[in-house]
Amino acid sequence: MTQKPASKKPDTVDQDQFLTILSREEALARFEAALFPRAPVSEPRKLADALGCALADDVVAPIDVPPFDRSNVDGFAVRSADLAFAGETAPVRLRLNDEVIACGVAPMRPVLSGTATNIATGGPLPRGADAIVMVEHTRPASVRAIEIRRAASPGQFVSYAGSDIARGEALLRAGTIVGSREIGMLAACGIAEVPVVRKPRVAVISTGDELVQPGGALRPAAIYDTNGTIVTAAINENGGDAHFLGAIADDEAALETAMRKALAGSDMLVLSGGTSKGAGDVSHRIIARLGEPGIIAHGVALKPGKPLCLAVCDGKPVVILPGFPTSAMFTFHDMIVPVLRRMAGLPPRADAKVSAKIPVRIASELGRTEFVMVSLVEGADGLIAYPTGKGSGAITSFAQADGFLKVDALADQMPAGTQAEVTLLTPHVRVPDLVIVGSHCTGLDLVTAQLAREGLFVRAIAVGSLGGLAAARRGECDLAPIHLFDDKSETYNTPFLVDGLELVPGWRRMQGIVFRKGDTRFEGKSVQEAVQAALADSSCIMVNRNQGAGTRILVDRLLGEARPDGYWNQPRSHNAVAAAVAQHRADWGMTIAPVAHASNLGFIPLAEEHYDFALVAARRDRPAVRAFLQALESEEARAALARAGFRPA
Ligand code: AMP
Ligand code: MG
Repeated sequence: MTQKPASKKPDTVDQDQFLTILSREEALARFEAALFPRAPVSEPRKLADALGCALADDVVAPIDVPPFDRSNVDGFAVRSADLAFAGETAPVRLRLNDEVIACGVAPMRPVLSGTATNIATGGPLPRGADAIVMVEHTRPASVRAIEIRRAASPGQFVSYAGSDIARGEALLRAGTIVGSREIGMLAACGIAEVPVVRKPRVAVISTGDELVQPGGALRPAAIYDTNGTIVTAAINENGGDAHFLGAIADDEAALETAMRKALAGSDMLVLSGGTSKGAGDVSHRIIARLGEPGIIAHGVALKPGKPLCLAVCDGKPVVILPGFPTSAMFTFHDMIVPVLRRMAGLPPRADAKVSAKIPVRIASELGRTEFVMVSLVEGADGLIAYPTGKGSGAITSFAQADGFLKVDALADQMPAGTQAEVTLLTPHVRVPDLVIVGSHCTGLDLVTAQLAREGLFVRAIAVGSLGGLAAARRGECDLAPIHLFDDKSETYNTPFLVDGLELVPGWRRMQGIVFRKGDTRFEGKSVQEAVQAALADSSCIMVNRNQGAGTRILVDRLLGEARPDGYWNQPRSHNAVAAAVAQHRADWGMTIAPVAHASNLGFIPLAEEHYDFALVAARRDRPAVRAFLQALESEEARAALARAGFRPA
């Protein structure tokens, strides 16, 4: 594919950062051309450690399997000619030889004409015998003889030497992935060790001053290192041998030392973060000094993942993944996994694909191949793919998605109703038993916990109240949790229901003013007094809510014409309001009591918000819906909701 120039004129920062943006295909082709062909490195591995590895050479069978002619049944080794005329009315009597051939016992005596030898399943056929008669088809005739009333064909119930695997046969071909079946074949031939492609040793480094390893305490403005662990796991999942070397601060000298050391001891280096030319982003500058040919692509027309940097330094791939976890994971799977698997001798990933309809229009940036994470639900006529994007900074958009779809670089949107191909992130479609689409609330988990225990798979997709209602109208979900306030009737939710939807009362969430404990402008005051105090203090900053939120209506009513500092800061969730106040970016805002209490903030109650469910009536009798309604009414859920600060309706 030829490179398409981005239609949008890049701004100057972009120009500085990414002088040449390659198309995804071009970047991958150049990266692979700089790395392959290369001879796979072979190493011997014990069978027990070879699972999942690719064989580096053909394996030839060193012995026959079975190694000798053996009996398939418990019975008697005979000469078939002795039984040629045996029949119901013509029993043949055979004298028993004085031995019993158990498994692992080499026969000592020949089977002469007119005799038989007792033999167990797996026992070696004695000299002279050419067939086995099952014990069920014989009758004891005396202590030392049996009687047989049917003929036996030569070879009956005998497995001949080499009939399973013949000595010299190519048992397994180079490139075969060693699974339990292959291990079984190798063990049957007595092979204890096989040549496999050595797993590429991949060093992983996270970069950023802000990173703290999981388990450590989070200092202000710091975040946990997510990429380190997911990249390490994804490398191991794809045939690599990952070594995580921790997070290195954005210090050029320290990073260069770490990168050189990491690269010296490994076949590949994967970094994340620091690929843009933001303050402190230095890793790409270091790569340019690490070896030839150096950077292959820096900037790929991919969304998410534009800042991806691909390099080859003296034959070793060096990659800088974008810092945002979803971008990092996406580019890793799309651009790095193919190369890693090839180095590990593994075939390309065989991703399962399904066709699904998209219920909403997906806007896309022209000039970049865009990948959109989706959750799958079952609609009336086939699968429906809901975009689950929370932005590339979100980790859950990757982890909770079922798959992704691709919007072509030349398209600026995918219209609602498009039938799209979804590449699954899991081996199979997991069709949920219950689909809840709408506004998210932590209380929801307290109800669905019971369903999960009953083995029901619940999928909750957070798209806000209005998005949930639209999905319910289209019959794409079972329930839509909503908290919509109707200004005119001053009631919640009911005015928004349409035909085919029923209201199921959920719980009440007390909304009120949130502030830091000890702030005398708010402590001990009524809501009106508190707002007056806030407005009277010009240094007091508020945090608002997004247009359309019921909470926003309450805030606007309290403020009247006033537009205090912070009014235009409009986050979309109750949690974001609490975080802004807790972290001193704002002094007050409006949120719900459970969220305020979870952040250890002060709270002045104002009015209850109704969090209810619009139930798609046609789906009421589905077992999972019934289970949900039962759970909602259960004492257990009501108590759990109350403990968390909600008031069950
Ligand atoms: P950068 O590319 O370094 O500018 O990072 C872009 C964004 O990704 C910033 O918000 C970083 O804090 C975030 N980020 C970078 N590395 C990591 C990581 N290892 N885990 C989680 N977030 C990260
Ligand atoms: Mg950084």
